Amino acid sequence: MYYQDILHSQREFFKTQKTKNVKFRKIYLEKLRDLITQNEDVLYEAINQDFGKSQFETYATEISFILKDIDYYLKNLNSLSKPKKVTTNLSNQIATSKIHSEPLGCTLVIGAWNYPYQLTLSPLIASIAAGNCCILKPSEMAENTTKAMAKIINENFPSDYVYAFEGGIDETTEILKLKFDKIFFTGSTKVGKIVYKAAAEHLTPVTLELGGKSPVIVTKDANMEVAAKRIVWGKFLNAGQTCVAPDYILVEESVKEQFLELLRKQITEFEYKPDSEQYTRIINQKNFQRLIQLIDPKKIYFGGNYNESNLYIEPTVLNNVTWEDNVMQEEIFGPILPVLSYTNFHNALNSVLESEKPLSAYIFTNNDEEKDLFIQKLSFGGGCINDVVMHLGNDNLPFGGVGNSGMGSYHGKFGFETFSHQKAILDRATWGEPDLKYPPYSENKIKWIKKLL
Ligand code: NAD
Repeated sequence: MYYQDILHSQREFFKTQKTKNVKFRKIYLEKLRDLITQNEDVLYEAINQDFGKSQFETYATEISFILKDIDYYLKNLNSLSKPKKVTTNLSNQIATSKIHSEPLGCTLVIGAWNYPYQLTLSPLIASIAAGNCCILKPSEMAENTTKAMAKIINENFPSDYVYAFEGGIDETTEILKLKFDKIFFTGSTKVGKIVYKAAAEHLTPVTLELGGKSPVIVTKDANMEVAAKRIVWGKFLNAGQTCVAPDYILVEESVKEQFLELLRKQITEFEYKPDSEQYTRIINQKNFQRLIQLIDPKKIYFGGNYNESNLYIEPTVLNNVTWEDNVMQEEIFGPILPVLSYTNFHNALNSVLESEKPLSAYIFTNNDEEKDLFIQKLSFGGGCINDVVMHLGNDNLPFGGVGNSGMGSYHGKFGFETFSHQKAILDRATWGEPDLKYPPYSENKIKWIKKLL
């Protein structure tokens, strides 16, 4: 079906006001939950075909997130969608003031391939919860998962309410010519700019969930074993193809050797084998070729092996890396972990500040002053102290970037707000009003208005 036909039908459907009914939204959230659970095996199979992701990781990092999101909104939708009473200032008395969350209308969600279910369906869930219609455009790079999602959505949702289009750059370019009321994009900073420009044509608000080089600082006051275990897990999860994965490590020089040894031990213990259930493949040849170019053989501390036939790259740690190395010039988005060292904590923070604002940043330390400086000095989307990646699992925290890593946020109530307009209503009594603001003005009125305002 043509994109504009679907959008037109969604616009007509939105006008019926049906999506504004909270019960209606809940019915479709429940329906989506049932569809996900009924089709769990189909979803596992599709993602396994796309990049060999295991059932365990798919459940832990995708399906469980989606089900949790649905449950969150089913539980909280009544209170989220209720008008919020706020105080009324003196000059507006006698009145009540309320903020009404209203749906934006016709929304577009463009997804990335690396967590294809979560990154497409979580924004959809927030959009439905907020009372919108929605067009989905999952990533063509995860072909089988995109097909699976499109089939599930298009066979079970009315197309004038929710519809999924398959397609790549050409199709997305066409879709982006249309006027939406909100675009929610997850992907690279480069394409984020294209989406932002297209949205500007129609003054469409956007949320851009982008990427960047997320640093991990490890100081001498860290618990080294815990740091190594958590970093290795977060880095090699999904073979490093995670937007919030640690991109590189900045470790204090005095503990570097000890820390490198712990990284080696941890990677070995986690048994990341080719074709094993523990370890995901690289999504495609193009990314595989890009990644192996980033491995400087002279700097390999651990790993460095790869196999083109099954798109396997061994977890690889690079040592003695400098800011000038190729691996430090772009977001890695793969299982290569460069380690740089520092001797002065302030200089370490300053070197992070030299780069674009990352999506995430992490610090491992038990020193409170270092924790405070890390939070105060660096600007980044979100992050953890003494952990990596896990902040995005807490729905009470907004998830999103800043600067080059994006704008806007979602998860929990933030997702609801992202897909809503906050409409301000002042409801004024028709009695009890002094004549102060009305002409004719006088010296006496100025005196009183100065006191009042
Ligand atoms: P991408 O930008 O290449 O693609 C994302 C989407 O944009 C896809 O649906 C694709 O079809 C579409 N697209 C690609 N080129 C386009 C063009 N020229 N015009 C219009 N549409 C186009 O990103 P990707 O490779 O899927 O994902 C990797 C990037 O996404 C990384 O930078 C990663 O950090 C980031 N990412 C961010 C988050 C987040 O939540 N912030 C999550 C996952 C990935």
